Amino acid sequence: MALSGIEIFKYLPKTNCGKCKFPTCLAFAMKLAVKQASLDQCPDVSPESKAKLSDASAPPIRLITIGTGENAVSVGEETIMFRHEKTFYHTPGIAVVISDKSSADEIKQKVDKTVKAAVERVGQHLKVDLIAIENESGDPQKFAEAVKLITGLTSLPLILKSDKIDSLKSALPFLNGKKPLIWAANETNYHDFAQAAKENGCSLAVYEPDLNKLSDLVEKITALGVKDLVLDPGALKAKDIIEKFTIIRRSAIKKAFKPFGYPVMSFFHKSGDSMMEVMLASVAISKYGSIIGLSSAEMWKVLPLFALRQNIYTDPQKPMKVEQKIYKIGDPDKNSPLMITTNFSLTYFLVAGEIENSKVSAWLAVQDSEGLSVMTAWAAGKFSAGSIANFINTIKAAELVNHKKLIIPGYVSVLSGSLQEKLPDWNIIVGPREANAIPVFFKNEWK
Ligand code: SF4
Repeated sequence: MALSGIEIFKYLPKTNCGKCKFPTCLAFAMKLAVKQASLDQCPDVSPESKAKLSDASAPPIRLITIGTGENAVSVGEETIMFRHEKTFYHTPGIAVVISDKSSADEIKQKVDKTVKAAVERVGQHLKVDLIAIENESGDPQKFAEAVKLITGLTSLPLILKSDKIDSLKSALPFLNGKKPLIWAANETNYHDFAQAAKENGCSLAVYEPDLNKLSDLVEKITALGVKDLVLDPGALKAKDIIEKFTIIRRSAIKKAFKPFGYPVMSFFHKSGDSMMEVMLASVAISKYGSIIGLSSAEMWKVLPLFALRQNIYTDPQKPMKVEQKIYKIGDPDKNSPLMITTNFSLTYFLVAGEIENSKVSAWLAVQDSEGLSVMTAWAAGKFSAGSIANFINTIKAAELVNHKKLIIPGYVSVLSGSLQEKLPDWNIIVGPREANAIPVFFKNEWK
C-alpha cells in the first residue's frame, strides 16, 4: 500500500539540509508520496529506512519491460483506478500475432505490414508495439524457425506464444538478451516455464481463467523466484474483460493483494470477426488491459485503437504542447503570410494542417501559452496583446517578412486594437476563427 507523505516523513533524517533540492524533509516526503521525487535524491536516508520506504513505495502493479533498446515496451506501474484521479502511466502494448504455420513469405509480409502500421498524431508517433509468435503448429522446429526469421526482420519486442516447453526451449536461444515475454505458464507447465523464464531473464505470462486459481498459480510461480509476470485471465468477451480486469486492478490497488499486482493481457486474434476484435480490444484498452493481441495490423483496425489509447493515457493535468518557436509550413519566403497561435498541440496541428491544405507556404509563430488553446489562453491572460508583441519582437519576425502583416486568430479579434498599438510598424489582420477556414482565407484575403 502506498504511504502518505506523513508516513514517509517518519523515515527521513529530519535535518532539513536541502540536499534533495527541497527546503524541508516534509516537503520532500510530500513530493515522494505523489511520485514527483525519487528517494535517491536524499543521500542521508539510512539503509533500514531505504529498505522500508522502497518496499512500501513500490507501485501496487509491477512494472514489466519486454524487449530492449528504443522499442522496449514497459507496462504496469499504475497506481489508480480512474484516470481523473491522477493519470495512467504506461500505454498498453498492441501486439500482432503471427502463426508459425505461415510460410516464410507470409511471415515477411505480415511483419512488414505490422512495422508499417504507424501514424503521427498530435506530435506523437503511434505504432504497433510487439509481435507475438504463436506455436500453432505445435512443432518445436517450426516455432524456432519462425522466431529466427522474425528476429532477423524486426527489432520489435516479441511474445513467445506456446505452452510447450520443448517449443520454448527450441526458440529461446535465438532471443538471447532480447527479453521476450513468454506466454504462458499454466497449472501443468508452470514449473518448467518459470525455470526457463528465470534462466533467460524473460518476463512470464500466467494463464488461468479462474481468478482464484490464478492467484494460487501466481504465488507458486513467484515462490520459484520469477517476479516479472503478466496475468492473462482468459478474458475473451466484453463482460469478462470488464469483470476480470477490474477485479484484478481493484484487488491490486485498493487491497494491495500482491498476487494480482501485475499488468493484465488478452489475445483477441481468434475472435473470428475483425469488427468484434477491434471492439474487444477497445474494451480492454479502456479497462486496464496492458497487452492486447490482434490478428493483423490493417490501418482501419489499429487507427481507432491508437487514438483511444493515446486519449486515455494522456495526463489530464498536463496539456499537450509544442515548442514555442516560429515554424515553417511549406517553403515560406519574405512574402509569405505570418500567422500566430498558441502552443496547445491540437491547435498547432490543426492550424499547421490547414495551412498545408491551402498549398500556401507560411510562417506560423507559436507562442507559449502553457499548452492552452487560443480562447482559454486569452481568458487566462496568457495570450494577450503584450505577450504577442513581446514574442513577435523576441523572435525578430520583422526580419522574416517584408510585408509586416501579422494574422491573429479570429477568436481573439478583440486584441487587434491593443496589439496594433504595441506593434505600430505592423498591420494586424484578423484571421479566421476556425482553422478549417484558413484555405479560403488565404485565397480571398491574402494578396
Ligand atoms: S536531503 Fe534528506 S535530510 Fe536533507 S532535506 Fe532532503 S530529505 Fe531531508
